[in-house]
Amino acid sequence: MGKYRCTVCNYIYDEDEEGYTFDELPDNWRCPVCNSPKITFVYLSEEKVELKEGETSVSDVIIAQMIEWGIKYVFGLPGTSSLGVVDAVRKNENLTYIQVRHEQTAAFMASAYGKLTGHPAACLTVAGPGATNLATGLYDASLDHSPVLALTGMLTRQLIGPGSFQEIDQQAFFEPITVYNKVLMSENQTTTLITKAIKHAILDKGVAHIGIPKDVQEISYTAETMPFDGSFPNNAINQPMFLILKAAQAINQAERPVIVSGFGAINQGDALLELAEKITAPIVTTFRGKGVVNEDNELYVGSHGDIGSTASTYLVLNSDLLIVVGSSFSDMTHLPEKKTIQIDIDPLAIGKQFPVEVGLYGNCAEILPQLMDLVQENKKDQYLEEIRKHKKEWLDLLDEEADGKLTPIRPQYIIKVLNDKIDDDAVITLDTGENGWWFGRNFWMKKTQKMIMSGYLGTMGFGLPAALAAQLIYPDRQVVSITGDGGFSMVMADFLTAVRNQLPVKIFIFNNHQLGMIMQEQMVEKYPNWETELYNPDFAAFARDCGGVGIKVKTPDELTGAVDKALSSDEPVIVDIETDPQRFI
Ligand code: FE
Repeated sequence: MGKYRCTVCNYIYDEDEEGYTFDELPDNWRCPVCNSPKITFVYLSEEKVELKEGETSVSDVIIAQMIEWGIKYVFGLPGTSSLGVVDAVRKNENLTYIQVRHEQTAAFMASAYGKLTGHPAACLTVAGPGATNLATGLYDASLDHSPVLALTGMLTRQLIGPGSFQEIDQQAFFEPITVYNKVLMSENQTTTLITKAIKHAILDKGVAHIGIPKDVQEISYTAETMPFDGSFPNNAINQPMFLILKAAQAINQAERPVIVSGFGAINQGDALLELAEKITAPIVTTFRGKGVVNEDNELYVGSHGDIGSTASTYLVLNSDLLIVVGSSFSDMTHLPEKKTIQIDIDPLAIGKQFPVEVGLYGNCAEILPQLMDLVQENKKDQYLEEIRKHKKEWLDLLDEEADGKLTPIRPQYIIKVLNDKIDDDAVITLDTGENGWWFGRNFWMKKTQKMIMSGYLGTMGFGLPAALAAQLIYPDRQVVSITGDGGFSMVMADFLTAVRNQLPVKIFIFNNHQLGMIMQEQMVEKYPNWETELYNPDFAAFARDCGGVGIKVKTPDELTGAVDKALSSDEPVIVDIETDPQRFI
């Protein structure tokens, strides 16, 4: 019998105590503490890992503790200074090791895992270059508040200091990236440091790093693992009723309210839609908030900001109240200063860009139902008509843009075809650049789909590793990566990881032979176009060389067949699409 953690509030569903297996609960079952949907729960463990005294090492205790606290994957490359921990992973069948071809991929995978589940996975590398190669992926996790456990080998204790082979000041290196950063110097600290690291990763929503000297990894040691139950506070934070009432009163007075939903509200689409319908308000999302509701719902009017719709810009600009839920007011979202009610689990996000009318610090899963009870039903027929009109104008524009006759193929047409063909419960991973821009603007998500991206760091190369992690988490769902020739070529060696582990990810490369976004920026800023052109291999041939499926698409009439073929394959696929680099013609 297993235990499941609500990644929103830390409530533990214990099958033994409840008498029902988690799977037996209906899909619409909600967390009894914070009201979050069933999908926010992650499986923790079945039982304790047995450690036999005299036969185990510090590394075995580390791994046993990680397993007991629900860590299922270790991504990395073995090397000189991590051999002890790597061998402990090998010996334990409750943990899966995924070998990657570059440590950056390991960190991206762990970051993506945290974004999708709310629970950490681990990455494990050697000292020095292995550790430094993690940096970009870990910064991605750090800025997007994704929980990750990073383990690195270090030199034998007596060699640390004088400047030995592969020695860097590892602790100083990780300090700005992490919420917790320690070196395991003695066997007696093992359980304390590992549990503290996982706790910090989860509760501080970031990267915890433990450096483990090579000789410490091998010390003969046994210790009782610490149970997960009783080690975490419940995080279901709420606000006093008078504040929620104040927010409800402001909503009741509003003539033109707009709901703005960010990534923090991604699982609360039903509650947001219920509120939107009751008060007649359009729903706008941030880029990362896409998919919170079915985007074909008449009240959803598009994203706001750089990739936003004309409808959302108009409605936000002409609103008299913004109800902002789980959004940290990124400067890419460009929310204007308006009378605002804000709900956020991060107290520092409240009033971040400008003072708000009512700031509600807490879980939107908790607060939204209470707010819902206090607001008055207010059907505004004229406002609804306006919302419909603006949404229709935007959809008509997108349709017009998606001209399927032009060669090279327009990115808008590729997005349209993918929009029609991708499964309703697909997991979509984005890269950074033109490809992501077009997805954010032109793709209309279903709430059963999931999408992750490198939000704040905006790093290229996130798409493929994130797809690998997504396919591990959701082996039965379609995993689609939308990437560019620039981003993909940064991490392409790890397409081999997909093939080797039989992860049937579908990689769509918008191959415009350019750093397209930068080419646009040079044009806008009146620089001559220079050094954005990319010299590429035949990505489809590369896919076949790796042992996967490769499909080349040169003309628009080949596209739908290629997409069908890719999506129905049970192997990893690269679809290399010759794409128009021009944004608008
Ligand atoms: Fe909960």
